[in-house]
Amino acid sequence: MIDKSNQFNPKKCIVFFDFDNTIATCDVFDNMLLLFSRDDRWVELEKRWTSGRIGSKTCLEGQLRGMDLDKKSLDAYLPKIKLDPYFKQLYKFLQAKKVKTFILSDNFDYIINRILSINGIKNLKVYANKLSFPRGKVATEYPYKNKDCQICAHCKTKNLLAKAPKDYIIIYVGDGSTDICPAKYANVVFAKDNLLKHFKDNKLDYMAFHNLKDVFTYLKSKLK
Ligand SMILES: [Mg+2]
Ligand SMILES: [Zn+2]
Repeated sequence: MIDKSNQFNPKKCIVFFDFDNTIATCDVFDNMLLLFSRDDRWVELEKRWTSGRIGSKTCLEGQLRGMDLDKKSLDAYLPKIKLDPYFKQLYKFLQAKKVKTFILSDNFDYIINRILSINGIKNLKVYANKLSFPRGKVATEYPYKNKDCQICAHCKTKNLLAKAPKDYIIIYVGDGSTDICPAKYANVVFAKDNLLKHFKDNKLDYMAFHNLKDVFTYLKSKLK
């Protein structure tokens, strides 16, 4: 157990952010469902995923198949996504302190990288499912699927453990069901919504956050 009353050494800290509803102020994929779905079959898939009857890969695949999606319409939509108003400052602060920082997301890399670049955020490594448009068709890949995990398409835990050296303080910021698995390996957890509920119900240690200002304030006090 680390002593959280002390200051943290920035060189021994690593920060993982979820993307949707954590860095982005909405769930980008959920908004895409409303915008691009041909009918409301996605609703049933969403119900099955939230009740745990299907994993997120089956859910994502089915929902994508139900969308009229091409690169042009997606590219026109992504500039509308708003980031948490404190994310940019927080990330600049982490960069200045040379704190290793990553995004772990169960959304798609193309979507996240494009939103980051539109918002002028550079050099932030994203681990997510893969989306591309070969010959104008939507293609997906799930390189971080874990065969032992029935919940996530991108099982974030494996990437978290691979990136975090043993003696580092792991800080995790997230909100959703696919954040539960990795957040359990973190020393400091910032949680809201589903993640918060799980940590609270299971009496695990966490800090609630409303937006990233809470995280920023905390890290500024810890990383001097
Ligand atoms: Mg999320
Ligand atoms: Zn998992």
